Amino acid sequence: MSFQLTILGASGAIPAYGRFTTAQHLLLENRHFLIDCGEGTQHQLSKVNIPVQRISHIFVSHLHGDHYLGLMGLLFSMHLNHREAPLHLYSFKGLDEIILAQLKYSRSTLNYELCFHELTSDRKVIFSDDVLTVETIPMDHRIPCCGFLFREKPKPRRIAREMLPDQFKLQDILKLKSGSDIIDESGKILYYNKDLTLEPRPSRSYAYCSDTRYNPLLGSVVAGVDLLYHEATFMDTERTKAADTFHSTAIQAATLALSASVKKLIIGHFSARYRELDGLLAEAQSIFPSTELAIECRTFEIDA
Ligand SMILES: [Zn+2]
Ligand SMILES: [Zn+2]
Repeated sequence: MSFQLTILGASGAIPAYGRFTTAQHLLLENRHFLIDCGEGTQHQLSKVNIPVQRISHIFVSHLHGDHYLGLMGLLFSMHLNHREAPLHLYSFKGLDEIILAQLKYSRSTLNYELCFHELTSDRKVIFSDDVLTVETIPMDHRIPCCGFLFREKPKPRRIAREMLPDQFKLQDILKLKSGSDIIDESGKILYYNKDLTLEPRPSRSYAYCSDTRYNPLLGSVVAGVDLLYHEATFMDTERTKAADTFHSTAIQAATLALSASVKKLIIGHFSARYRELDGLLAEAQSIFPSTELAIECRTFEIDA
């Protein structure tokens, strides 16, 4: 089952050197999520052949333009391409006003429903279905801002098929998956669960840390995730500027990844002052070697 992240944009503030402002697509077991929606996102989506109409939820970390200015174009294109399925939008207060004003003055009515979900500054589960949860991660930024933690729910135990007795009943297989032993009417144990099952596959996780000043307390929130995206707007020489503008350096992103023992770090939201990104990558890798750059159209897969 897929757990695939695609970088659509990773430029901070303005597009630069072919880099687009922030947007990411996450595919998790046939669920299509969009994380932020910077300018040009719909062009990037078509470039990587993502089925746009199957995007059901869009998570907007904050209302700085480089994280949402691509939204209106995308919403109109969905409308013009005859979308009917509702679209869920998660954002801090104001996005509904921004969108509804544009619809009002263009005298447009979308032929699908927009479902607005207002974010708050505390940690909260904002989405849950039978496969995953999405939880907010409070960021330290100039305006209300949060990241998102996507985590698969615990999975059922796996049946060791070669160990099953002949003519084993379907309802007993379901009991095994739920972790129960198999008992007869008198309560006598016929089969121990551990003899017929294997450990569940691990639950995969992705933490998206949007614009933020370095905050070591985030380490406990993202501890052990398979994949951590953390902004790294600046190199170490600009660490004072990073703090003043509520952004982070590559070294700070890597320090957080190290303290949280994540499996892999992706850095992004690069300042337009850097034409080349090698310096940012080298600084991060000096602290946390398993770091990669968020490059447009690059995908990151977490194996099941
Ligand atoms: Zn930004
Ligand atoms: Zn910002």
